[in-house]
Amino acid sequence: MKIILFGPQGAGKGTIAAMLVEKYRIPTLSTGQVLREAIAQKTKLGKIAEQCINKGNLVPPEIAAGIVNEAVKKEEFKKGYILDGFPRNLDQARLFDEMDKVDFLIEMTIPRELVMRRLTGRRTCRKCGAIYNIDPLCAPHPKKAGVCDKCGGELYQREDDTPDAIKKRLSIYYSETKPILDKYRKKVITVDASGTPEDNFNRIVAVLERKKGSQ
Ligand code: AMP
Repeated sequence: MKIILFGPQGAGKGTIAAMLVEKYRIPTLSTGQVLREAIAQKTKLGKIAEQCINKGNLVPPEIAAGIVNEAVKKEEFKKGYILDGFPRNLDQARLFDEMDKVDFLIEMTIPRELVMRRLTGRRTCRKCGAIYNIDPLCAPHPKKAGVCDKCGGELYQREDDTPDAIKKRLSIYYSETKPILDKYRKKVITVDASGTPEDNFNRIVAVLERKKGSQ
């Protein structure tokens, strides 16, 4: 099963991707995560990406497309995958059509006021990329403050989770990314993602199982 996750920043795409990976045993690819790792490792790609990401801008399209193109050709991606962060606009969608075809696009919706709350409380593991939240009303909370439950890595606040960068990223999502869904209308599954990660996950799996059965 090949899936693309869509949704504004803070909808919980990264969290849901990790849960879907466990359930369906297929790999996930987050273009944002690949770029963040490149920045941490101070590679050539990381140096270019850092300038764009910290301001909330997109990286050049050939960089994002290159990451995905390389991944989907891998043997482990042949049977299925969960893609998070690509395509981001119609040009990237056209590039993606030349690379592969997916079964479903999952659109995770969330009210704007909840986005800010989730993003300002979001903490990411520097080592494995696992996502947590320190806002009392958002989940999941790390068992020990500042430490990843899964690998013991340090939890940090992403450089692009500042109010200005969040605003810019949200505006790009609604003006450039969301319109892509019209292009793939028949494959789109829209799910309310304002609940807990478990509620959202159960809702998504229920729809996926129903749709898979009727394919
Ligand atoms: P994300 O983790 O999906 O929120 O992505 C973080 C940042 O990485 C974005 O704000 C962009 O700067 C960059 N990025 C991730 N995916 C793409 C893409 N498909 N095209 C351009 N920039 C991207």
